[in-house]
Amino acid sequence: MVIVMKPQATEADVDYVIRRASSLGLKAHVSRQNGRTLIGLLGDTRGLDLGVLAGLRGVERVSAMTRPYRLASKEFKPEPTVVTVRDCVVGAERIVVMAGPCSVETPERLGEAARCVRAAGGVMLRGGAFKPRSSPYSFQGLAEKGLQLLAEAREATGLPIVTEVLSSEQVPLVSRYADVLQIGTRNMQNYALLHAVGESGMPVLLKRGMMSTIEELLFSAEYILSHGNPNVLLCERGIRTFETYTRNTLDINAVPALKELTHLPVIVDPSHATGKASLVRATSKAAVAAGADGLLIEVHPDPENAWSDGFQSLAPQEFSRLMAELRPVAEAVGRSL
Ligand code: PEP
Ligand code: MN
Repeated sequence: MVIVMKPQATEADVDYVIRRASSLGLKAHVSRQNGRTLIGLLGDTRGLDLGVLAGLRGVERVSAMTRPYRLASKEFKPEPTVVTVRDCVVGAERIVVMAGPCSVETPERLGEAARCVRAAGGVMLRGGAFKPRSSPYSFQGLAEKGLQLLAEAREATGLPIVTEVLSSEQVPLVSRYADVLQIGTRNMQNYALLHAVGESGMPVLLKRGMMSTIEELLFSAEYILSHGNPNVLLCERGIRTFETYTRNTLDINAVPALKELTHLPVIVDPSHATGKASLVRATSKAAVAAGADGLLIEVHPDPENAWSDGFQSLAPQEFSRLMAELRPVAEAVGRSL
């Protein structure tokens, strides 16, 4: 339920509404837009007499929420959420590009990838230390050693780190090294993990499940938000369709759809969405044109010899070219890079 206050409502009116709501067992979440105060109410509102709240001083109207998720919805919080990661701001005017190898491999390769990402204008370094591989025989990641290498690369370049956490037990360990906890597509509905990253308060990059709907993605975000963590970035990374030419199908619809439904920043991962390095430039530009707040891109100094996802990773010069081509697209939609 959302209470819309009158433009002339005072702070005292708002405080009084919050106190009355809390006496009814409801938790209030206050947001402001265009000089208007909105009070979202969480809790069991069944059987509640709306007239009690509607009649309070300063209240313009009380409306039921039309979306089944609450904290993630724009009805609840109309203003865009901005997530701050060290000195990077995600969800503001500037498009943020997070890039790096699929997996952390050697210190030399990670260092080279990080330098290339920074030189081309990337603002965060991605890299997996714990890899969720489809086959148990594939490289599973360097685990804590990989996290240490990421921390060293951050030390050397100043780029904050985005890295995946696979289980709730791993959250404390990965949080000691990472700046952003990545939840992979296979774990989007691992509710124990969502609960744990929610309690951690760390910025979270939540990837859409490869077979999940936009609404299911928002419900997963709701798990994190409802455990007290507002720092959620949503990531469209392609979904399974009947098409086999590409690894997944980039659901470009999801970008403006999410912008319509939620205040959370939207990131697009064209590397996993296409599975082909040759398609990453065009789809990155499409994502920015469609309103994405950022991109997550796989970059490797030697893609042919990468230990995972080399076929979809950009070489350094390809990444620089992509960044140069993205700038005018960002400007065309009123953003910068
Ligand atoms: C990754 O980012 O390397 C990854 C494993 O992504 P996803 O979970 O989207 O497959
Ligand atoms: Mn990958």
